[in-house]
Amino acid sequence: MIELGFARGKRFAVMGLGKSGLAAARALAAAGAEVLAWDDGAGARAAAEAAGLALTDLHGAELSGVEALVLSPGIPHSFPVPSPVAARCRAAGIPIIGDVELLFRARPAAAYVGITGTNGKSTTTSLIGHILKGAGRPVEVGGNLGTPVLTFAPLGEAGVYVLEMSSYQLELTPSIRFNVAVLLNVTPDHLDRHGGMDGYVAAKRRIFQHPARSHTAVVAVDDDHTRAIFDELEAEGRVAVIPVSAEREVPGVWVRDGLLFDGGAEPVLDLRGIPTLPGRHNWQNAAAAFTACRAAGVEVDAIVAGIRSFPGLAHRQQFLGEADGVRWVNDSKATNADAAEKALVCYDDIYWILGGQAKDGGLAGLEPHMGRIRHAFLIGDATEAFAAWLADRNVPFTRCGVLDRAVAEAASMARAERLPGATVLLSPACASFDQFRSFEHRGEIFAALARAEIEKGGTPP
Ligand code: ADP
Repeated sequence: MIELGFARGKRFAVMGLGKSGLAAARALAAAGAEVLAWDDGAGARAAAEAAGLALTDLHGAELSGVEALVLSPGIPHSFPVPSPVAARCRAAGIPIIGDVELLFRARPAAAYVGITGTNGKSTTTSLIGHILKGAGRPVEVGGNLGTPVLTFAPLGEAGVYVLEMSSYQLELTPSIRFNVAVLLNVTPDHLDRHGGMDGYVAAKRRIFQHPARSHTAVVAVDDDHTRAIFDELEAEGRVAVIPVSAEREVPGVWVRDGLLFDGGAEPVLDLRGIPTLPGRHNWQNAAAAFTACRAAGVEVDAIVAGIRSFPGLAHRQQFLGEADGVRWVNDSKATNADAAEKALVCYDDIYWILGGQAKDGGLAGLEPHMGRIRHAFLIGDATEAFAAWLADRNVPFTRCGVLDRAVAEAASMARAERLPGATVLLSPACASFDQFRSFEHRGEIFAALARAEIEKGGTPP
C-alpha cells in the first residue's frame, strides 16, 4: 500500500467506493486522515463497511475543512451534469481529485509513464510494464487497467509507475508530472462526459500538461486529432515530442507492413509473427510502447525481447496456444459486434464461438467478414437470433448451447479439416450474464477448455 503521510490529521471526502475508491479510503484512513466515505450503491457501502470503513453520507455531511474530494473516475464531475456531491464540493471550493493524484503527491521522486487514447490503452500499458520489468526496472502497472494505484508498492527514484489514464482520470489529476506520456489515438467516445469532442480532446491533451524535467511526449499521429496535438506540442517546443505511426514513415518510430522501424533503413522488429499483438491496431500499440521504453532508457534489444515475449492481455484476443496448426484465441471481452469485428479482421479460416446475451443490433456490421468464417458455434440466449442471421448469409453453424460443447465441436472440426493457419476464436459479440458471472469468467472457462484441447493436440507456447 502507498503511505499517504501528507494526509495525517487532515479531512478527505471519498465518493465512489469501487476498487480504487475503497483503496483510497483505506490508504487515507491508514495514514491517520479523517475520511468521509460514501457510495450511492448499497452493495458498495456494505463492502466498505465489511472492510472496516465508517460511512458518511456526503449528500448532507458538513464539509468544512475538507482538503479534497477523491472522486471515482466513473462519477461525473462536470458533464453531462455534475453528481450532487461533486457539485456541493465545487460550490464549497473543495478541490476534486482522483487516486492517481494522491499517489503522485506521496511518491513524487519515482518516474511516471502515462498512457492515454481512445483505444489500446490497456494493451500498451501492460506491454510497457512487461518490457520495463524484463529490463530489470522496479515497476508497478495499473490505474484504469485494474490494479488500484494506492495498492502499489512504494517505489523510489529507480522505480517506474506505468499508468493507464482514462480521460476522466486525467481530469482528476491536476499536478502529476509524467516523464513519458503516450497518446495513442482519439476517436469520438464518451462525448457526453466531456461536453463534446473539444472537451474530450482537451482531456486527452492534459497528459502533456505538466511535463517533468526530462519529459518525452509520444504521439501516434494516425488520426487528425492526435496529429493536431502533435503539431501544437512541437510548435510550443517545451518538450521532446516523438511521432509514431502504424501507417507511414514518420521522423520517429513507425510500422510498415508489420515491420517496425526506429529511424534507420532496416527494421528492428517483425511484428507479424507475434501472436499476442495481432492486427494493425496492435502495431500502433507496439510502436508507442517501443518509443516510450526507449525514452525511459531501455536498450533496443531488451525492448525487442520484451515485445516478443509479451503474454498478451487476458480476454482481449488473448493467444492461448497452437496445436495441429490451429490457433486458439480468447476474445471474451468482445461483448458487442464492434469489438468482435476487431478480432475477426485479424484471422482467416475462423471457427467462431459466439453468443450469449445479444446487444441491440446483434451482429449488424459484421457482414463483410463472414467470408472468413469456416463455421460458427452458437451458445447462450442469442442462439436463435444469431442462427437466423447467419443462415441468411450462408454461414454454416451449429447450435451448441453451452461453451464446453462449442469448444469440443470446434476442436474436432478444426482437427478434421487441418487448414493451415486456422483459428478457433471465442469472440462472442454478446454479454456473458446468461451463462457466466462476467466476461472474465467466460474467458477463463474457455481458456481452460482450450488449453486441454491444445494439450491433446500438440505443444502449448
Ligand atoms: P482500452 O484499454 O483503451 O480500452 P485495450 O487495449 O483494452 O484498449 O483494447 C480494447 C480493444 O480496442 C481491443 O480488443 C482492440 O479491438 C481495440 N484496440 C486496441 N488497440 C487499438 C488501437 N491502437 N487502435 C484502435 N483500436 C485498438
